Amino acid sequence: MNSTLRDIIAASQRIVFFGGAGVSTASGIPDYRSKGGLYDQKNKRSPEEMLSRTFFINHTAEFYDFYRSNLLHLDVKPNDAHRVLAELEECGKLTAIVTQNIDGLHQTAGSKQVFELHGSAWNNSCMECAKPYDVRDIASGKDVPRCECGGIIKPDVVLYEEPLSDEVVSGAVNAIASADTLIVGGTSLAVYPAAGMVRYFGGDNLVLINQTPTSYDRCATLIIREPIDKVLREAVSPG
Ligand code: ZN
Repeated sequence: MNSTLRDIIAASQRIVFFGGAGVSTASGIPDYRSKGGLYDQKNKRSPEEMLSRTFFINHTAEFYDFYRSNLLHLDVKPNDAHRVLAELEECGKLTAIVTQNIDGLHQTAGSKQVFELHGSAWNNSCMECAKPYDVRDIASGKDVPRCECGGIIKPDVVLYEEPLSDEVVSGAVNAIASADTLIVGGTSLAVYPAAGMVRYFGGDNLVLINQTPTSYDRCATLIIREPIDKVLREAVSPG
C-alpha cells in the first residue's frame, strides 16, 4: 500500500498536508479529544469547557493550571511525520501544511509554509496592550501570567467560542484549492472546521492516513490505517 503512496508523491507537484492531533502523538503529545483523553477528574469538566473563552475569562487561574499541565509540551521533538513533510517542502513537492495542532512541531522540523488553524502555543500576548511574550514566560509559575502593564497574558491559541483567523483560513483554503494531492493525516475530520476545508480540494489524489474511519473515506483515492510517522517515512525511503 505504501508503494501506492510513494507513486502518488512521485507524481505530485503541489501536495498539501492537512493534519490533526494524530500527527503529534508519536512525539508523546496525547490527543485530548480522543477517548480516554484528558478530562479534569477533580471538577468533572470537559476539555471543551476548560478551553473555552468563557472559562478563560471567568476562571483564568484554573485555565492556566489545566493548560500548563495538559497542553504545553515544550520539550517534545518532531517525529518522522513532521520530518518527512519538511523534506517534501524542501525538495519542492509540498506547498503547505494546514494543521489543527498548536505545538509548533512542523516549524521545529523545518517546515516554512504552515497554516495553524488553532494558533500556536509558542505565541502569547497581553490582552490589554498586545505585547508579545515568549512561551517560557507563561509556562512556569503557578499564577496567572501578567504583562508589565498589568494586563493578563493570553496564549495566541484559538479557544472554543473564538473565531479562527481569517488570514490563516484563507491561506489554508487557497493552498488546498490549488493542490494536486491532499494528504490528510491524524485527524478524523470530525472537528470544525476540518471537514469543511477538505471540500475545497479539487485535485487528483485524496489520501487519508488515519487509524479510524473518517467522513471522507468514500471520496478517498487511498486510505491507510497505520501510524502516520511510519507511513510517511516508508513512502519516501529508497527502495
Ligand atoms: Zn500589556
